[in-house]
Amino acid sequence: MLFTCTRTLRAASKFGSLIRYESTLVIAEHNNENLLPITCNTLTAAKKIGGDVTVLVAGTKCDTVAQKVCKAKGISKILLADSDAFKGFTAESLTPLILKLHNELKFTHILSGASAFGKALLPRIAAKLDVSPISDIIDIKTPDTFVRTIYAGNAIQTLKSKDNVKVISVRSTSFEPLPLEGGETKHESLPTGDYTSNQVQYIKQELSKSDRPELTSAKVVISGGRGMKSGENFKLLYTLADKLNAAVGASRAAVDAGFVPNDLQVGQTGKIVAPNLYIAVGISGAIQHLAGMKDSKTIVAINKDPEAPIFQVADFGLVADLFKAVPELTEKL
Ligand SMILES: Cc1cc2nc3c(=O)[nH]c(=O)nc-3n(C[C@H](O)[C@H](O)[C@H](O)COP(=O)(O)OP(=O)(O)OC[C@H]3O[C@@H](n4cnc5c(N)ncnc54)[C@H](O)[C@@H]3O)c2cc1C
Repeated sequence: MLFTCTRTLRAASKFGSLIRYESTLVIAEHNNENLLPITCNTLTAAKKIGGDVTVLVAGTKCDTVAQKVCKAKGISKILLADSDAFKGFTAESLTPLILKLHNELKFTHILSGASAFGKALLPRIAAKLDVSPISDIIDIKTPDTFVRTIYAGNAIQTLKSKDNVKVISVRSTSFEPLPLEGGETKHESLPTGDYTSNQVQYIKQELSKSDRPELTSAKVVISGGRGMKSGENFKLLYTLADKLNAAVGASRAAVDAGFVPNDLQVGQTGKIVAPNLYIAVGISGAIQHLAGMKDSKTIVAINKDPEAPIFQVADFGLVADLFKAVPELTEKL
């Protein structure tokens, strides 16, 4: 056998019938050095399902990430798969490894964060396993019943999955992060296999560098919309963000107009954020934008149109010209 055995998955219940213990695989998202915060949220979701939780850290020279996961409490097993094949973390190279693991260990659930990484990987795994992926869950009722939003967050769906393995992406803002402390699980290295994919070839990745907090985990987010009028004017928001140690986001209109890169987009087709404070500047409040930020603890809107829908979700609204209001606010802080 390739991998060490987990405890028996099936056991007789006290009523004499066979029950299946939950056994969840969490696919860690990381950059070969650090675990990304979304994995800690996903671990909380995995623990809510109950039963065994196994974490897979697959990457290239990512031993330190596995050591960090070891500090999380209540993890049954941590598997480290180190290979050059995982450069770029492509879904094409990771899927065969995960399928092989599932074949050996028979997970009941396979989880990852609902990030670009999870959104690329999980549908591929689900398709290979011939099950329906369950995307972007916001709650877990029972091990087979999950809650997710539909229609751009306008309705909440509770669904029961009858698949024997549930392949799930987890919305990070809906689960508290599991702290990386108090745990003592040792990690196991998986035998190296050939996971090189002939479908894709990883060439390089260019990441935008920023000293500001990461958008999805920042405590304060300031987003600009079409009302900003140009990319140059986003400097106003960057200056304010520096004072508040905030991340900067944007509406899709601002992204489509080329004011800012698309990794700043907040909303249904962008990132989901739920900071303590969200400041929407020159954003009208279309439902697709609200879908990405309406769970923020406090929402502040600055808009010159008193009828703008953003004011319906805002805790504090300022009807003003942003080009006057934002510099004033920055100066007063
Ligand atoms: C399938 C689909 C998915 C989508 N996904 C997303 C998504 O993920 N995220 C997203 O944001 N959108 C998304 N959209 C687009 C969405 O419908 C809106 O078009 C978009 O959010 C509008 O962006 P905005 O509020 O910046 O622009 P606008 O709606 O044009 O609003 C600009 C606002 O700026 C205000 N303003 C202008 N000048 C000033 C000034 N000087 N001072 C103060 N206020 C000023 C105006 O009063 C106005 O309210 C999606 C749409 C579709 C169909």
